[in-house]
Amino acid sequence: MKVLVLNCGSSSIKYQFFDTEEQVALAKGVVERIGMSSAILSHSRHDGDNIKIVGEILDHAIAIEYVLGVMLSKNHGVIDDKDEIDAIGHRVVHGGETFSGSVLLTPEVMNVLQENIELAPLHNPPNIKGIQAVSRILPGKPQCGVFDTSFHVKMPPKAYLYGIPFELYKKYKIRRYGFHGTSHRFVSKVAAEKLGKKYEDLKIITAHLGNGCSMAAIKNGLSIDTTMGFTPLEGLLMGTRSGDLDPMLILYIMGKEGLSLSEAQTLLNKHSGLIGISGESSDMREIQIAVREGHKRATYAFDIFNYKIKKYVGAYAAAMGGLDALVFTGGIGENSFEVREEVCKDMGFLGIELDDKRNINKEEIISTDSSKVSVLRIPTNEELVIALDTADIVKSLQEEQAAIK
Ligand code: ADP
Repeated sequence: MKVLVLNCGSSSIKYQFFDTEEQVALAKGVVERIGMSSAILSHSRHDGDNIKIVGEILDHAIAIEYVLGVMLSKNHGVIDDKDEIDAIGHRVVHGGETFSGSVLLTPEVMNVLQENIELAPLHNPPNIKGIQAVSRILPGKPQCGVFDTSFHVKMPPKAYLYGIPFELYKKYKIRRYGFHGTSHRFVSKVAAEKLGKKYEDLKIITAHLGNGCSMAAIKNGLSIDTTMGFTPLEGLLMGTRSGDLDPMLILYIMGKEGLSLSEAQTLLNKHSGLIGISGESSDMREIQIAVREGHKRATYAFDIFNYKIKKYVGAYAAAMGGLDALVFTGGIGENSFEVREEVCKDMGFLGIELDDKRNINKEEIISTDSSKVSVLRIPTNEELVIALDTADIVKSLQEEQAAIK
């Protein structure tokens, strides 16, 4: 099946076009600066051909028209007709409490997504815009939604409820949701395969470390806890986000600095984390360079980043009553041997023993042969998961329809 995967953000659309049988991306690209006269479409084909187009792209519908245009083009395209696209899979950030898996995007599902806008005011509206644009441009094509939250929906109440009046959970759905679920699900399953063990028998901790960072405790194939919460701000230290805080300090800072609600949000989401502490950069590569040069605040940032991950490894091993595998993924998790080394240092008491050579050489299994806990480095591929989920949903739909006939 040929599936177009779309990740629609407020001013950008990332896309990949998959052949799901072969599990290869035939083309991929991104449209940036949507809404501006100098928007950029960067497109590359699996054979290495690539092209950049600059032009006025005022909204998501026009951006998707551009993407289809380049996919159909004689010189840079991968299809001869729009009908070669069997289905479209969308990354949708927030599925609220409703969706515990990926779904066909029906009018009823769209209503639920609208209801969830309040929970993800920055992310769900562009996701919805993308879905609506595709309905107009490719009418009748099945579209599926794959949610960042759905893998965590089955967490137990003790993991998802906050210690605030229960009525607020009922009234405003204030609870921990967790994000990056597609990535946690993918890398934990791949880890089980690589270890040749049954997914349902394992206790796995996954650390997705990119610009946004989160960890998940996955016991017998279910996410039982995760570090992000009501919003993607909770948990680990991130590029520009603070992670866990004493909630009182937000009110204290707002009072002291006279900050409005939106200024406080910006402070915690955009000016905190690695950039806030180091004053240098939100990018781990640059932080590590600064650490090597002896930059004190960058060293604090680096140390705090690793320390928080280490603490959650301990917490989640306790939550699951043991640990079989620790998995690193995301731009930092996949590429920074230094972060993996710091996190796993002195963790022998938990059965974690890193093999330094394997770690530096970026091998898949980076623990020693005698390590009780396997440590893995697995590149994530959220787009592939979206394509495969979409293909599965569409196939079962076709089978259902065939059975009715
Ligand atoms: P996003 O969350 O936006 O998808 P990525 O998963 O691409 O981001 O991760 C981006 C992060 O990965 C940045 O902090 C970047 O510095 C870091 N990163 C990429 N390569 C390396 C590397 N070789 N060493 C350390 N950090 C790296």
